[in-house]
Amino acid sequence: MNFHILTLFPDMILQGLSTSIIGRAAEKGLLSIEAVNIRDYTTNKHKKVDDYPYGGGAGMLMQAQPVYDAWKSIADRIGDKPRTVYLTPQGSVFKQNMAKNFAKERDLVLLCGHYEGIDERVLEEIVTDSVSIGDYVLTGGELPAMVLVDAVSRMVPGVLTNDESSLAESFEGGLLEYPQYSRPEEWRGKKVPEILLSGNHRKVEEWRREQSILRTMERRPDLLASAELTEKERKITDSVKDGKNAP
Ligand code: SAM
Repeated sequence: MNFHILTLFPDMILQGLSTSIIGRAAEKGLLSIEAVNIRDYTTNKHKKVDDYPYGGGAGMLMQAQPVYDAWKSIADRIGDKPRTVYLTPQGSVFKQNMAKNFAKERDLVLLCGHYEGIDERVLEEIVTDSVSIGDYVLTGGELPAMVLVDAVSRMVPGVLTNDESSLAESFEGGLLEYPQYSRPEEWRGKKVPEILLSGNHRKVEEWRREQSILRTMERRPDLLASAELTEKERKITDSVKDGKNAP
C-alpha cells in the first residue's frame, strides 16, 4: 500500500514513521510512505503558501494553488483520481472500521492542514474523505496523518507478524481487549489471575471473553449496543445495565 502525504513539514512525517513496525514494513516493501512538500509547488516567488482569509478573522489560511498542484503531481503519477483524506477536526471521527476500509486502497493521499486550515475551494476539488482524530484542535494535520497511517498499516496483510497480530484486539467484535499479564507471576504483591496459569485453554478463553465484556461495560458502554454478543451475553449485559442481577 502506498501513502502519499501532502504536508508543509515532510521531515516530521518521515521521522515519525521510519521506526518500529511501520518502518520495518516499509523496508520490506509492504508499504511506501512519501511526504510531498506543498511548499515546493507554490508559484509565489517568496515561497509563500498562506494568506489572510477573506472577510477578516484571526490567522492565515493555506492557499488553494500550491495544495492543488502538489496533489495533481501525485494524481498524475498514479494515473487516477486518488482517494484523498483531509485530516480536519471537522471530519468523521476516526474508527477501527475506517482503518480497515482505507487499507483496501492501493494508494491513499493524506492532506495535512496548518495555520487556520485550507482554502475551501481546493478541498471541494480534491478531498474524498474528511477525518478527525478526535474532538480537539491541533496545530497541524501531521500527527493525525501519522495516527491514520499507523492504524491503517496494521491492517495491511504481512505488516504485523503472527506474534504481533491479535484477533482479540480492542474493537474487534465491538469489544475492548481483556487485561493481560506477563512474567513474573507475582509483582509488588499482585498475582496473575490463577486461571491464566491453569493451562486450560477453554477456561482461559471463557475468562478472557468475560473480562472483555466487563471492561467494555465499565469503560466504553457506548460500544456495547453494536458489539457482537451471544444471546446469553446480551441478556447479561442488558440486565446489568438495567440495574437487575444477572440471570
Ligand atoms: N480552523 C480550523 C477549524 O476550526 O476547523 C482548525 C485548523 S487547525 C489549527 C490546523 C490543521 O490541523 C487543520 O487544517 C487540520 O489539518 C489539523 N487538525 C487539527 N486538529 C485536528 C483533528 N482533531 N483531527 C484531524 N486534523 C486536525
